[in-house]
Amino acid sequence: MVEQRNDKTEQLQAEIIKLRSQKDHLLKELDTVEAQYENIDSLYRRYFPIILDALSQDSTAFGKACIQLATAMRKKASPVKIEYIFGQIKTAMIHEDVSPVAAPPKKGFLSYFRKNSSEDQMLENLRQSYQDVVNQLKSILDQKYTQKLESITSNLLKIEEIQDFEGVRENIFSLIFNYITETSQDREKVNAFIRDIVSRIFEIEKKLVSSYEQTNSLLSSNQGLESILNDEMAGIKDSFDAAESIDDLRAKISTGLSSIEKALEKKQKVDQAISRLAEKSKNSFTSGFARLKQELHSATKYSEELEKKLNEDQLTSAKNRRAYDKKIQEEMDRFLRYKTIFSLLLIDVDKFKNINDTYGHAIGDRCLQEIIKRTQPLLRKNDMLARYGGEEFVVIMPETDTKSAMKVAEKIRRTIEKIEFLYKKENVRLTVSIGVSCIKDGDTSPMDLFGRADMAVYKAKENGRNQVITQ
Ligand code: GH3
Ligand code: MG
Ligand code: MG
Repeated sequence: MVEQRNDKTEQLQAEIIKLRSQKDHLLKELDTVEAQYENIDSLYRRYFPIILDALSQDSTAFGKACIQLATAMRKKASPVKIEYIFGQIKTAMIHEDVSPVAAPPKKGFLSYFRKNSSEDQMLENLRQSYQDVVNQLKSILDQKYTQKLESITSNLLKIEEIQDFEGVRENIFSLIFNYITETSQDREKVNAFIRDIVSRIFEIEKKLVSSYEQTNSLLSSNQGLESILNDEMAGIKDSFDAAESIDDLRAKISTGLSSIEKALEKKQKVDQAISRLAEKSKNSFTSGFARLKQELHSATKYSEELEKKLNEDQLTSAKNRRAYDKKIQEEMDRFLRYKTIFSLLLIDVDKFKNINDTYGHAIGDRCLQEIIKRTQPLLRKNDMLARYGGEEFVVIMPETDTKSAMKVAEKIRRTIEKIEFLYKKENVRLTVSIGVSCIKDGDTSPMDLFGRADMAVYKAKENGRNQVITQ
């Protein structure tokens, strides 16, 4: 029985150590990931002006206006100022670089529209990255997850729109959370695995978000430019409508214009889809981490509760024998190294068997609880009151000599003697015998000290009980 309990205690102790290290690892991971995330955020804020710089490589009025806009954005200029510069860009576009009448422009912003429509490629990259994660999960998780993983793979293959990855990632996250909750495997291993998966998903997100940053930066500029372009095109169309003599020219120009319109529409759709996805992606990524934090919080709480339970006596809520053994050994070690003294009280309830026999076991239990409740306030913060076993309690008193320990013991004895414990109007008489011992030269084990306290209790009993004796 005792062996079994020791086994359990050892298991629980091992569990605490594992949970602690798991917690530490995950917290570290979380810090890194959060730092990376902030990094991306600042990249985003810097990106728009860089794109403008790229657009403004020539010395045209359009290029100059782009530089102006980039500077304004870097300096966080007011929207009014930015709008004004956009106006200048519009004028420049009409006059030079961007001419919808000509064949496709050699450079200038329209070429960016074409260069950026590599949505398919991005779709493939993301699909492959997520599949890598799924494969990794397959090689680690038990067979029970195989079916779920296969359905994720088949969902991945079906994806045609970037925003569908949202659902896949959500599935992977919930699979991992299920695994955390259900697994009985070595926590260390689980922790390493989760760290790896989270960082891989983070890498995927980073790709996604950074491609969004690029596209989104373009999108904000495009949106302004688009409306300008549309206005201008409408104007040009009108003027050509008026010029009936050049029908052929008008037809050509109309074709050119409608193809630009189509390009703009397509670009707008892609941009908006990516932008929506990236927004969602950011949000659910954050909520994924919030859940991870929550998991960590419960793991910490669980391990703290476990630790408390391991050291606590269930009946009286005093410390238990395990906590006593640990503390007395620490005090012993301190004494052996630094000669810091400490004392021990051994409190044994007098004729407790009689109390049980007369009033019943339940009343006996309540007496034990009452003794702890009354004794605890008489001690200092550094003293430890523990239930040694049955109706025996111990108090470890660091840096306390025999004289002071005797005083405290006497206070405890008197307090308990005075307890008015009524049972069916009859006063239950409750007294204790206390043995006091102080560490001394030549002691090498806690048992030396305990042996003397035990002997003192024996003498107190012999002398008639309800007294304090030192040995
Ligand atoms: P003495 O003054 O010589 O110490 O007499 P005693 O009756 O206290 O000593 P003894 O060791 O003969 O009996 C101790 C009793 O304490 C026996 C046991 O049933 C009772 N006891 C031990 N643990 C508990 C407990 O958790 N609850 C209750 N109610 N009784 C307990
Ligand atoms: Mg006893
Ligand atoms: Mg007793």
